[in-house]
This record gives sequence, C-alpha cells and structure tokens, in this order.
Amino acid sequence: MSPHRNPHVKVRFPARKRIAMVAHDSRKKDMLDWARYNKDLLEGRELFATGTTGTILERELGLAITKFKSGPLGGDQQIGARIADHAIDIVIFFWDPLASHPHEPDIQALQRIATVYNIVLACDRSTADFVISSPLMDEPYEKLVVDYEGARAAQVDSLVPPGKGE
Ligand code: PGA
Repeated sequence: MSPHRNPHVKVRFPARKRIAMVAHDSRKKDMLDWARYNKDLLEGRELFATGTTGTILERELGLAITKFKSGPLGGDQQIGARIADHAIDIVIFFWDPLASHPHEPDIQALQRIATVYNIVLACDRSTADFVISSPLMDEPYEKLVVDYEGARAAQVDSLVPPGKGE
C-alpha cells in the first residue's frame, strides 16, 4: 500500500453523545464553571469522568456520571481504552499546560489515542463551548477513521499468507 494513500473506515457517533471529562487540579474550578454553565446541554448525554473530576461534578451539579479511576491512578488510560472501543465520542480535557505531572505518559497517550480514532477533543473552554453548542451534538455523525487496522492486517497477510500452517 502506498504510504500516501489513507483509506478510511466509517464509524458512527450515536445521536446521544458519550462525553468524558477530565480536569487537572488547577483546572477543576474551570471545569466546574464550564459544566455549570452548560448543565442543560450536558444533561441527557452519557457522561464519564476521571475520579476526582467526576465526584466534584456529581456532587456540585447532580449530574449522573460514570466515574473511572483518578487520572494518575489509571483513569486516563481507562478513557483511552474506551475510545479504542468506539465507546466515547468526545473528551473535554482541561489539562494544565504549566505543570508537569507524574502521569505525563498517560496524558500524552490519551491525546494520541483521541487523534488515532478521530474523536472530538477539546482542551480549552473555548473549544469546549463550540463543541457543546454544535448542532451535530444531537445528530448521528459518521466519522472517518484512518484504516490503520486494515494496514496491519495487510502487513500480517504479506508476512504470513492466510492458510499457512493449517
Ligand atoms: P482526577 O484526574 O479527575 O481524578 O483528578 C484528572 C487527572 O489528573 O488526570
């Protein structure tokens, strides 16, 4: 396969979007303000969050949220795994650009896997505002994902032709 060709597969976002929220400590207040302002738009969606962020949003706003582990304890990776399973459509990720974190590799991994699967990733309040107020929030949407899996399968077939060893 030519390295310049990028075949895609189509993956459907459901009408009821699945949104994960993550906020680093210095951005938790921002996340709470943002979620409070947009509470009406968040209600009725399927909501997920890392542990501490989710507990704060649940307690303050009464939103129903599926909580993962705290980010530094694996929560970012749990969200990444669900993105790879096409089970999360949008991540609102208020990360702190002025601090270093013990779970830096997990943060980078979450940002990377969000791009691999072409999900919506908002890392600041302006982007999050545009995302949450988009007309596409209430419609099914077919995203195009680069067919990396097809390329992998072709690589396996070229090395070990199907049927070999049977
Ligand atoms: P937290 O995790 O919501 O549990 O604080 C966020 C993070 O720091 O990744």
